[in-house]
Amino acid sequence: MANRTSIIAGNWKMHKTSSETRSFLEALKSAIADFEPNCEIVVAPPFTSIATAVAETDGTRIRVAAQNLHWEDRGAFTGEVSGPMVKEIGCSHVIIGHSERRQYFGETDESVNRKIQAAMRSGLVPIFCLGETLEEREAGKTFDVVKRQLIEGIGKIESPDPDRFVIAYEPVWAIGTGKTATPQQAQEVHEFLRTESAKILGQDFSDRTRILYGGSVKPDNTRSLLNQPDIDGGLVGGASLTVQDFLGIIKEA
Ligand code: PGA
Repeated sequence: MANRTSIIAGNWKMHKTSSETRSFLEALKSAIADFEPNCEIVVAPPFTSIATAVAETDGTRIRVAAQNLHWEDRGAFTGEVSGPMVKEIGCSHVIIGHSERRQYFGETDESVNRKIQAAMRSGLVPIFCLGETLEEREAGKTFDVVKRQLIEGIGKIESPDPDRFVIAYEPVWAIGTGKTATPQQAQEVHEFLRTESAKILGQDFSDRTRILYGGSVKPDNTRSLLNQPDIDGGLVGGASLTVQDFLGIIKEA
C-alpha cells in the first residue's frame, strides 16, 4: 500500500474575521512549534481573511486554502473570485464542491468539474468534496451517488498529479450534526472511491491520492477514523474553529 501523508484541513466556512484569524494562527503556530505533527496542516478561511492567514503562516508548515473559486480565470462575474487570484494571494489549496455550496449555491457535478479544472490550471490543489444525503443513504443509494459525483467530478480531467489532488468524502448527514460516520461506514466508502478512481485515472493515482473524511471529526474520533486503511485525514468544520480542538485533532493524526 502506498505511504500517504495525512492531511488535517480546517474548513472555517463563514467564520473568523482577519483579526480573529491572526489570533487563532498565532496560537496554533506556537502550539505546533512544540512537537512535530505527523500530518500536513491546511486552514481554509473566508476570502477576506486569506491575506492575513498567508502572512501569519509564512515560513511555517501550515498551508492556506480558499473555500471556493470560479471556473473562469477572469470576466464579468460580479462577486466571484478566480483561481489566479487565489493562487497569487498565496493559497496552495482550494475546497471545491462542498455540500453547502451544492445545497445553497446551486453547484452541480458539472460546475464542480469545471472548478476542479480551473484549480489545476492555476496550480492549486483541489480538495474535491462529495458525499450522500441522509435520504440517499437510507434509500441504499450511497455508492451510486458517490460514484456519479466522482465520475462527473474527475471524469474529464487529464492525468492529475496524485500528490496534488485531494478527495474528501463528506456524508451530508454527518456535517455539523454531531453524527460521525462510524470508521467502518467511512472506510467502506473510501475503499470504494479508491477502487473507482483507479478505473478512471489509473492505479498510481488511486494509490497515491489522499482521501479525507469530513463530518463531525473531533479529537476523540480522529484516531479511529484515521486508523482505517483508506482514510488519509480529515476535513474539519466546527472543530477547526478553536485552537484546542484543531490541535487535538492534529495531535491524533
Ligand atoms: P463539521 O463540518 O466538521 O462541522 O461536521 C465538516 C465540513 O463541512 O467540512
